[in-house]
Amino acid sequence: MDITDFVLFPGMDALDHSASVTDYENALKKYFNAAYCVSLTSGTAAIIVALQAVGIQSGDEVITSAAAPLCTAFPILSTGAELVFSDCCRTHFGLDIAGLQHSLTRKTKAIVEVPMWGYGIPAEAIELWAAEREIPLIFDLAHCAGTQYNGLPLSQFCDIACFSTQKNKMFSTGEGGFLLTDNEAYYRRALSYSRMGNLNGIDFGVNYRLSPYLAEKGISALAELPDNLNLRAQQSQSIIAQIDHPAVRELEVVPGSIPSYQRLLLQSDQGGAALASYLVKEGIPSDMKKYNIWPLYEYPVLWKYSADCPNAEHLLETTTTIPVHQRYTPEQLAQMATIINNYPY
Ligand SMILES: *Cc1c(COP(=O)(O)O)cnc(C)c1O
Repeated sequence: MDITDFVLFPGMDALDHSASVTDYENALKKYFNAAYCVSLTSGTAAIIVALQAVGIQSGDEVITSAAAPLCTAFPILSTGAELVFSDCCRTHFGLDIAGLQHSLTRKTKAIVEVPMWGYGIPAEAIELWAAEREIPLIFDLAHCAGTQYNGLPLSQFCDIACFSTQKNKMFSTGEGGFLLTDNEAYYRRALSYSRMGNLNGIDFGVNYRLSPYLAEKGISALAELPDNLNLRAQQSQSIIAQIDHPAVRELEVVPGSIPSYQRLLLQSDQGGAALASYLVKEGIPSDMKKYNIWPLYEYPVLWKYSADCPNAEHLLETTTTIPVHQRYTPEQLAQMATIINNYPY
């Protein structure tokens, strides 16, 4: 008997998909215009599975931005890879190409790019850069369901796009995640790794399957996504139009991109921390305060991966987040704008 014919328990199928999971994955493929989708238990699982799909092994180097969140860094580390922090650009959260060139070594085996809070990046440039060097490009789009670049979903500009549908994300199933790819080999490996190696006794894998109950929730949440995106864009535009403060403005939107507005980003020359503290005191929450956001190498748990990323430091120091929600009333939006306009500086 050939080893490839060896099946541990004939009739048992680790791919045993429920109809709702298949329906959900088909709906995601259609919405994001992707060839393949694997639904998963979380955004964390999506990043781990994507790295496994591109073949990351212990000791390989994975580049990510110093302005990324801890929840991107931890799944990378859990694969046994070494983190390499590279700088983002001065005016947006996309990785800086000159910095990437500097971070590249023979051990670089993947890049994980994280467009923050739903704001786009000049995705074509990094896609081209990575493709020329044959380095798999993974996007962590946990904030970016609905973010567009050049009229296409941001997920179209990378090899594997990872999403979280955890309850704080704008497209949510409570907990959950998925990945999208157009690459059949990556899809097969992602599917196998997240479904216990298909229990074929040859391949290694664990269980990251999404619950069918959450898949059903995902189908209805996805149906509401276009309206939610429109409302969030309108609400963000309404706040921006009412801001009349000499030192506060929206973070520059990358030309050609349409943000999903997971949050509205404001920049202040006087420092984002002071503005965030003021806003929190006035009752407007800020992710900067809530999650205590720093460049990743400044957290004790990541001190080992020290780096020098002045752009990430500048962006995180000058930027603060404003909550956007499809259910805000015009009065609440006006109230937020008034509080922002009254910022004493
Ligand atoms: C939420 C989030 C994650 C983690 O997703 P979970 O579903 O909570 O595991 C990863 N990356 C980013 C950018 C996130 O916002």
